[in-house]
Amino acid sequence: MKAELVSVGTELLLGEIVDTNAAFMSQRLAEIGVDVHFRHTVGDNLGRIVSVLELALSRSDAVLICGGLGPTQDDLTRESVAEVTERPLTLVAEAEERLRELFARRGYAFTRNNLKQATVPEGGRLLENTCGTAPGLLVEHRGKLLIAVPGPPPEMREMMEREVLPRLRERLGEHVTPVFSRVLRMADIGESSLVAQIDDIIRAQTDPTVAPYAKPGEVTLRLATKAASEEEAAPKLDGLERRLRQRVGDHIYGVDEETMEVAVGRALREAGATIAVAESCTGGLICSRITDVAGSSDYFLGGVVAYANDTKECVLGVPHETLVEHGAVSEPTALAMARGVRERLGADYAVATTGIAGPGGGTDEKPVGLVYLAVADADGAVCLEQNWPGTREQFKWRVSQYALNLVRKRVLGIEVGG
Ligand code: ATP
Ligand code: MG
Repeated sequence: MKAELVSVGTELLLGEIVDTNAAFMSQRLAEIGVDVHFRHTVGDNLGRIVSVLELALSRSDAVLICGGLGPTQDDLTRESVAEVTERPLTLVAEAEERLRELFARRGYAFTRNNLKQATVPEGGRLLENTCGTAPGLLVEHRGKLLIAVPGPPPEMREMMEREVLPRLRERLGEHVTPVFSRVLRMADIGESSLVAQIDDIIRAQTDPTVAPYAKPGEVTLRLATKAASEEEAAPKLDGLERRLRQRVGDHIYGVDEETMEVAVGRALREAGATIAVAESCTGGLICSRITDVAGSSDYFLGGVVAYANDTKECVLGVPHETLVEHGAVSEPTALAMARGVRERLGADYAVATTGIAGPGGGTDEKPVGLVYLAVADADGAVCLEQNWPGTREQFKWRVSQYALNLVRKRVLGIEVGG
């Protein structure tokens, strides 16, 4: 089945919101074996929506529209579907009743414009919206399928899962082979270095396929295979994953949605160990990420955001001479911060960051992007120097990612260098 996606909304064209819905829909459709050939973004304009729908219908089996189903003047999806299929909009009595009940329950006045949400192009059907007001649409037109889902992401996701995907799956019947995939997530390795190490595997790939993808602070490998079922796909993906782990296993911190903070938490929990954090340039981001994980109180003792030199000295015990002689952004300071917070909080592991986030404050000797990351445990402490110029946001994220990964490796007994 060939499909096209149409995202409706002028705010998407203006770049005010990012089209996360299209990414979600593409992913889920690929997983059930629907081939998405085109994606469009169009503003809230009847003529232009209609022309995109005409084009999409002329060459694809299914057209999925997202957004513009609400009650306001600029919500034009219903009208556009009606026009392109040349069917009048008709009122669905049960839908009207449901809307009126919903408004009454919430204590809102039901105004006339809301009635349009209860209309459907003749012969089509409404798709129930269990977490919002605007129902979706499904119209079969000359053997093709037109489906519209609401713009708010939770409503879109819920309607896709409950109403749309099961119908498409049924329509696809026997002759689809869905794609099953797995994502291996890596830090502290660049995309090109990764590709060099697994070049032969990438070249020889047929089934499953493997594709690298670089994101800020990490590189991922996506393994994918077409199979009739999860049970059939799993051994194929397992086999490839095993081969990849033999080459680059130390870099792989997580699988699929697993974040670095979850991976670190698991390592600490399994080791029965605790952690403390001393942050300068990351400003608390590392602590924030650690505590994003439920149950982190089992291993996280606390952290200090030591931004000023005095704080590094008084709270963490970084020697005054170290700061004077080497500066706040230096290996000796990072090491002293890690050792200091570990000792003061009585933790098994400690990690510390100190760097120059920029855009100001850099010198020839210590440029913007320079950072020292130190990790300390009972066996001593190591420090790594890195240089990551970029925006403050990118810098902080990368440093936090790298610092957490240092802890993970140290806890798991993987060489961290330095
Ligand atoms: P409503 O009944 O809320 O008006 P709607 O179906 O008319 O729903 P829109 O008005 O197009 O949907 O979008 C509502 C909100 O949903 C937008 O302001 C935006 O926050 C979010 N949204 C819409 N489309 C997308 C998208 N493609 N990706 C991410 N968010 C989106
Ligand atoms: Mg709207």
